[in-house]
This record gives sequence, C-alpha cells and structure tokens, in this order.
Amino acid sequence: LVRRMQPFASTIFAEISALATTHGAINLGQGFPDTDGPPAMLAAAQQAIADGHNQYPPGPGVPELRHAISEQQSRDYGLDYDPDTQVLVTVGATEAIAGAVLGLVEPGREVVMIEPYYDSYAATVALAGAIRRTVPLVPDGDGFRLDLDALRAAIGPDTAAVLINTPHNPTGTVLTDDELSEIARLCIANDVIAITDEVYEHLIFGDLAHHPLAGFDGMAERTLRISSAAKTFNVTGWKIGWISGPADLVAAARGAKQYLSFVAGGPFQPAVALALRTEAEWVAANARELERKQTDLSATLRDAGFGVHRTDGTYFVLADPRPLGYHDGLAFCRSLPEQIGVAAVPVGAFTVSNDWDHLVRFAFCKEDAVLAEAARRLRTLG
Ligand code: PMP
Ligand code: GLN
Repeated sequence: LVRRMQPFASTIFAEISALATTHGAINLGQGFPDTDGPPAMLAAAQQAIADGHNQYPPGPGVPELRHAISEQQSRDYGLDYDPDTQVLVTVGATEAIAGAVLGLVEPGREVVMIEPYYDSYAATVALAGAIRRTVPLVPDGDGFRLDLDALRAAIGPDTAAVLINTPHNPTGTVLTDDELSEIARLCIANDVIAITDEVYEHLIFGDLAHHPLAGFDGMAERTLRISSAAKTFNVTGWKIGWISGPADLVAAARGAKQYLSFVAGGPFQPAVALALRTEAEWVAANARELERKQTDLSATLRDAGFGVHRTDGTYFVLADPRPLGYHDGLAFCRSLPEQIGVAAVPVGAFTVSNDWDHLVRFAFCKEDAVLAEAARRLRTLG
C-alpha cells in the first residue's frame, strides 16, 4: 500500500464487523438498518431489472432521478437546482465526497473538517494529496458544540474547502443556525468552497429541523450539497448518492467521478426517484421510530453504567465506558463482542487527537427485539 494510504489500511467498520461475525455478536458498530425500506421502492428496483434497465445509465444519473432530487430540495428547503447541470448521481455519498475533493482540491491545499469526522474524509483527503485540518466539537452540557474560535483559526489562505457534516456522525450533533451562519461567513470572507455531507438530513429528533448550509446567504453559489438514499430509505447496499450545487462545481466533481466509477447502479436509480417523490411519510415515520430507539438504547446504556451523550439525529449514540472501569475505547470495542456478544466502534477511529479515545459509538438502527437482546447483554457488564 502506498505510504499516504498506510494509516487507512483497514477501516474500523471492517475490523469490528468481522469480530462481530466471529463471535456471533449483535452488531451495533457499523451503522446500517436491519429492516428494508419502502416496499414500493423495492418493487420498483425489481421492475427496473425486469424491464431491462441493466446497462450503463447516463453518466450524471438517470434524468428521472435527477429531477426527483431537484424537486425534493425545492420542496423541503426552497433550494433550486437545475436537474441537468446542477445535480450529479454518485455511488453513495462516499463517492460524492471523493468526487468533490478530488475534483476541486489541489494537492497540498487544506480541507477543514469537524473532528470527530466520518472516516472516509481523512482517507479521501489523503488520496487527493491534500491536507486535513480538524476543528473539534467540544462538550456542551450533555451534547457538543463546534469550537468556533478553532474554526476561525483554521480557515485561511491555505484552505481549499470546508467539509461539514450535520446531523453529525458519530456524535449525533445537529449544528445550530448560529454555528452554520459563522461557517458561512468564514467561507465567504475567505473565498472557500463548502462541501456538506447531509446523509442524515431526515434523521433528526425532537423539534429540531435540518437547515442546509447552502440555504444561508451567499452560500448556494459555493456549496456542494451531498446526500444519499442509504440512510433515508434503508438501502445502504444500493450505493446511490448525489451532489447538488452550482454547475461549475458539480462539473468539477463529475470530472473526477467519471473515472472513479463512471456511473452508478442503473436499476436502483428509478426506484430511488420514486421513493423521493412518494415516500415522505415513510421517511418521517422512520425518523420517529429511530428517535424512540435512541431514547431506549440511551436509557439501557445509562442503566448499564455508561456515561451517555445526547443525540439529536443520525443512527448513533456516544457512550463513555470509564464509569465501568474501561478507559480505552478501542480495547473495549475489541473485547466486547467476545465478552458479552455486542459490537460497538471506538470514536478514536474518527479523530486525530486523543481527546476522544475513551468514547465508543453504538448504533440504534435495529429491530426492537435485537435492541432488547443487546440491552440484556449490556446490563451484564455492570
Ligand atoms: N457520510 C456519513 C456521515 C456517513 O455516516 C456515511 C455512511 N452512511 C456516508 C457518508 C456514506 O454514505 P453512502 O453509504 O451513501 O456512501
Ligand atoms: N456510515 C456507516 C457508519 O458510520 C457505515 C460505514 C461503513 O461501513 N463504511 O457506521
């Protein structure tokens, strides 16, 4: 493996999911749901295969899906994107992030990202020969807030882009309007591009609402907004994501994307288009279910003796096992599958600093019976 990729030799998800399989553990590590998405969407993919949509789709994505992506953003956020020039379908959000970074960031320039960060950000920035610059979330009550002083210090002449993720994996933090306004102000003042990872845009709890950074004054023309069908419609295996933004930035991402994968899964695209147009109720009900599961798992973890952080969205809750006598999150996650038959991931896998090494992430996107059995096992720790 080339030197710049050596720190990323194996993803934490591969390691922990393999351990979970070896020990027959309940996998609350890797974030994927264990129930299927809307039945009409599943049937539409099967129909597309039966109807012969089995060859390369158009490079930017099938028109039907690009139109549906554009309509959803107009409906939900009042954002206007031309489906022909301002929307690009990708192989999941993962390829969208890679296309944006590889197409827009010159080697040696900096990409500012929130720490902890989703693991592919660091690896993708390394692939581009660019430099990762992290800005931490800091504890705030039982949740987290962005360290805005650190953000002001991080963005400057060397910054090519800021990569913003809200709702945030792994903490479940939803950035506030004040935080987003300050990010916007700094991007404009420093003439920097924003790449926003909004894959959990619909998985948000309580009375909070998702506000895309692209909707802030002066940001639409400098933001590449990324989302994905994976978490919205319970189809992490379909790998259909997308980018929306100004035509020149989308074209740059497309320039890189066309040599990464060329195109994305043909028969899945019309099915996701249908879901974006017709399944808003399913999506809202799914978010309410996840919120209840989050409340239940957080209570279980507290009962079991963990410190537990607040989660405002996503699939994830952060827990602190130190009250149980475990001080190293990685060691804890490596032993847990064998010890009690449950898997979690260490937050240290998403950071450069050691400040997070004690914390572990549990996913609650599982059926109630599975969570109940995990709860029984977790309580044996205390
Ligand atoms: N960004 C974040 C924050 C994620 O949690 C994930 C995992 N769903 C991705 C990107 C990758 O999304 P996809 O599976 O669509 O590639
Ligand atoms: N996004 C999911 C997570 O954070 C899955 C990631 C993966 O398997 N690469 O758990």
